[in-house]
Amino acid sequence: MQKKIIEIFGKENVLFNKDELIIYGDVKFICFPYNIEQIFKIVRLANKYNLKIFSRGGGSYKKEITSDIVLDFAKFNHILDTNINDKNVMVQSGVVINHLNKYLKRLGYYFPIIPYSYEISTVGGIVATNAISAANDLLLKDYIEEIEIVDGSGKHYKTKDQELIGSFGQLAIITQVKLKIKKLEDYKINNKYKISTFQENKNKEKFDPNGVLC
Ligand SMILES: Cc1cc2nc3c(=O)[nH]c(=O)nc-3n(C[C@H](O)[C@H](O)[C@H](O)COP(=O)(O)OP(=O)(O)OC[C@H]3O[C@@H](n4cnc5c(N)ncnc54)[C@H](O)[C@@H]3O)c2cc1C
Repeated sequence: MQKKIIEIFGKENVLFNKDELIIYGDVKFICFPYNIEQIFKIVRLANKYNLKIFSRGGGSYKKEITSDIVLDFAKFNHILDTNINDKNVMVQSGVVINHLNKYLKRLGYYFPIIPYSYEISTVGGIVATNAISAANDLLLKDYIEEIEIVDGSGKHYKTKDQELIGSFGQLAIITQVKLKIKKLEDYKINNKYKISTFQENKNKEKFDPNGVLC
C-alpha cells in the first residue's frame, strides 16, 4: 500500500513513520495533495482496498484523528481566480482565511466570515464545520456561490448543494469553493464579544482581523 500511495503523491508528500504520525492521532498515512488528480486516485485506491479517508484543513477543530489515510490540505492552498466585477474568488480548499484576507485586502476586498481561528482555519474546514464568524453576524451560507467536490466514488463535480455546509467531511471531499467577497470600505465592526468605546470602534473601521478579534 505504501508504494501505491507514494506513486500517487511522491515520497516528499507522504508521511508513514510512526513518530511523524503521532501528532495526527491513530492514522497510517498522511498525504499532502497538491493537485486534483491525486485526490481522485487516492479515493479510488481507498475504495478498492476499503480504507478510510479523513480530510484535514488547519486542524483547529478536530485534534485526534482515527483513519487509515489523512488528506492534509496544507499544500492544496492556491487562490485560483479573483473576479472583482462579480465580487467572488475561487480558491482551493486548503487556503487559510487569514491568507485569503491578506491577499484580498491588497485589492480593496475581504471575505467576511472570520472565525476566531482565522489564522489556521482553511476554507474547506470552515465550510465543513459551517463556521460561525466571530467578527460579525453574517452567515457562511450567504457567502458561498459554488463548491467543487470529489465524492466517495471518485467523481468530481461542482454543486450548490448547501448540505455540504456543516457536513464535517462526511458527504464528500471539498476541493474548491467559490466565495463571495465584500468591498473593504463596507467593513463594519460588529464585535459580539466586547463592548468598545466609540473612539475604539472608529479606530477599527479599517480592516484588521487582529483588531476585530480583541
Ligand atoms: C482557538 C479556536 C478558535 C475557534 N473559533 C471558532 C469560531 O470563531 N467560529 C467557529 O465556527 N469555529 C471556531 N473554532 C472551531 C474551528 O476552528 C472551526 O470549525 C474551523 O472552521 C475549522 O477549520 P479547519 O481548517 O481548522 O478544519 P479542521 O479542524 O482541519 O477540520 C474540521 C472538520 O472539517 C473537515 N474538513 C476539513 N477540510 C475539509 C475538506 N477539504 N473537505 C471535507 N471536509 C473537510 C474535517 O474532516 C473535520 O471534520 C475555533 C477553534 C479553535 C481551536
